[in-house]
Amino acid sequence: MSKLEEYKLRAERGDKPTLVYAELGSCDGCSMIIVNLDTTLLALVDVFDIKQMRIAMRGVYEGPIDVLMLEGAVTCEEEALELRELRKRADYVIAVGACAELGGIPGMAPAGAVKKAQDGAFGAHVKGQGPFAPRPIHEIIKVDGVIHGCPITTADAVRAIRVILAGGRPDYSDRPVCTECVLKDNGCLLLEGRACLGAVTRAGCDAGCPSVGGYCWACRGLVPDAPLNALYNIAELHGISKADIERKLRMANQRHFTLIEEKETK
Ligand code: SF4
Ligand code: SF4
Ligand code: SF4
Repeated sequence: MSKLEEYKLRAERGDKPTLVYAELGSCDGCSMIIVNLDTTLLALVDVFDIKQMRIAMRGVYEGPIDVLMLEGAVTCEEEALELRELRKRADYVIAVGACAELGGIPGMAPAGAVKKAQDGAFGAHVKGQGPFAPRPIHEIIKVDGVIHGCPITTADAVRAIRVILAGGRPDYSDRPVCTECVLKDNGCLLLEGRACLGAVTRAGCDAGCPSVGGYCWACRGLVPDAPLNALYNIAELHGISKADIERKLRMANQRHFTLIEEKETK
């Protein structure tokens, strides 16, 4: 029996599966997508008993969880502890958006920066939270599924929920954004001397940014074995510096580079 069949049977008995949407270090942008666009919310409400979602309702739920959606990066020991406790109560965990999956924009903060900002703003009033360099949730707990992007898209969210309900894992495209961009017959921004990261970035957004004239900044994460050196070389041929490419890469993927740099200095 698929999860969907099981959940439907439970819903018929008046025992809808429970869903908790929890936020860590995030801007609430991904939950705004879910709440604002009614198709996503309706797909959730239809099947689940939503027990907690900061942006839409009050209160904290403390019972067992069938599906736990997590938005945001982990920024301190207190959140890591909370995350481990949530994982113990949850059957299925989904990382929602680039912050939760990759560290995302909060992940740009270097080690010590969160503590410095916290001390500067709150001083002695904040104690014992143990702030650290923001990191993705899979570094703390096991994750069962991911919805990519910053922010996520409605289409991705609905599709991911359907796949999960059918008992599968949301699609992890290994193709780069360029493959979608070419199919849309977009002109290539690299040829115009603009740093675009589509060649190393996971597809699935239908080349959203280049299709409207913006560069791809890798918000869906890097493809496996991303050909970074090839991108640096091609970019250089068009007058784009490696530093410009790297600066953009680090906007959503700083944690990826931090881990490599830590390994190299050991
Ligand atoms: S992934 Fe982007 S939109 Fe979503 S919470 Fe993080 S910063 Fe906000
Ligand atoms: S514009 Fe960007 S995504 Fe499109 S083909 Fe060029 S590098 Fe790839
Ligand atoms: S084009 Fe790149 S930055 Fe834009 S939505 Fe797609 S993956 Fe994200």
